[in-house]
Amino acid sequence: MEKTKKFLLTEKELPTKWYNIVADMSTKPLPMLHPGTKQAIKVEDLYPLFAKDLAEQEMNQTDEWIDIPEEVREKLKIYRPTPLVRAYNLEKALDTPAHIYFKNESVSPVGSHKLNSALAQAYYCKKEGTTNITTETGAGQWGTALSFAAKAFGLELAVYMVKISYEQKPYRRSLMQTWGAQVIASPSMSTKAGRKIITEHPNYQGSLGTAISEAIELAMSTPNCKYTLGSVLNHVSLHQTIIGLEAEKQMEMAGEYPDVVIGCFGGGSNFSGISFPFMRHNIKEGKKTRFVAAEPASCPKLTRGKFEYDFGDEAGYTPLLPMFTLGHNFAPANIHAGGLRYHGAGTIVSQLMKDGLMEAVDIEQLDSFKAGVLFAQTEGIVPAPESAHAIAAAINEALECKKNGTKKTILFNLSGHGLVDMTAYDQYLAGDLVNHSLSNEDIEKNVKQLEHLV
Ligand SMILES: *Cc1c(COP(=O)(O)O)cnc(C)c1O
Repeated sequence: MEKTKKFLLTEKELPTKWYNIVADMSTKPLPMLHPGTKQAIKVEDLYPLFAKDLAEQEMNQTDEWIDIPEEVREKLKIYRPTPLVRAYNLEKALDTPAHIYFKNESVSPVGSHKLNSALAQAYYCKKEGTTNITTETGAGQWGTALSFAAKAFGLELAVYMVKISYEQKPYRRSLMQTWGAQVIASPSMSTKAGRKIITEHPNYQGSLGTAISEAIELAMSTPNCKYTLGSVLNHVSLHQTIIGLEAEKQMEMAGEYPDVVIGCFGGGSNFSGISFPFMRHNIKEGKKTRFVAAEPASCPKLTRGKFEYDFGDEAGYTPLLPMFTLGHNFAPANIHAGGLRYHGAGTIVSQLMKDGLMEAVDIEQLDSFKAGVLFAQTEGIVPAPESAHAIAAAINEALECKKNGTKKTILFNLSGHGLVDMTAYDQYLAGDLVNHSLSNEDIEKNVKQLEHLV
């Protein structure tokens, strides 16, 4: 019988609602705290920084389903629904009895899943009369996505880009500029937070935490300007559930249901997106699917961090978030998976982790690239270095199946392609990349500083 490789939905089948897992969680995430008063944040406290609708989604613990506005669905249709693909060639190369499926988010025009939330956020900002938005970007994926989304909804955008990526990944900067955004290397001299860091550490290569501080400061000091964030927050995970909702229908078309769902993990948005719609069946119907977050060994907040209240940024401008964290002062090694270099995990995912509803593995840099190259050579797509972590975890699961002779169905999210990350592949192929080990003392040092925060 002829095998089906791709499972495709029509535009009419594009989901009309996002799934809010918090409504179904028996233990709700702890509240965000105001950094000054240490009191639980109220939704109004978020209005100065975020669009109102987004602030409300952030705090929504009751509505299981939230409508996707028609204007957002129109733009999503530029690239959605995305394909679900059976990775027959990868299975063959691994000689595994496992069935491996991946959801291909790399087909978005910006090359990653990030556009799913960027379009929604730009829409809600525009709807309430905002003219300017700011953000930070690590590897450049979020900034790239938001640049197109800002243009699509007629907003001006300023992006603070982590300095190391600004230099290592000039093409993402070009993409952002092509879509009309203003891009600033962070730390920069344009904000108090940036100036302080440059003065103390002149050679600092930047981090997402620093860039967040700068973008927030600009938003707070500019009229009609809102801040947006591409990961970590609840509303971002909400928008990304469109990935898993489509995948759920597509797995049904394939006549299978996943035993394991895997996503790479930076702040948790693409992992949440592929996982939460399936996790709802674990919560409500007692299904036993495993959910595995794949994080870099050099930034292991879920596997080696601590569950504590911590700031989302280095300067301490954000609310205190209850999360698995390595401490907001943690400076991760300069690995190429820039989108995974963040010190903490989103509050929903952190609570799910604490309650044993999901698990995490850490992946060494060299193993991620080895997996990325095998995937490119079998399935044809060069994955983003971030996504390669999910592939490595999927391969480990598939090899485990081979060893035990078990036939599992594995689903992972291909969060993006790596065509703008070829310098990283060049270095890997030349043998110039290394693993970065992290001692317990390195972790303890930063996590200890959190004890007096709350
Ligand atoms: C940003 C990014 C990630 C990490 O962010 P999450 O919020 O954890 O999903 C992963 N993959 C790609 C391609 C990215 O751009």
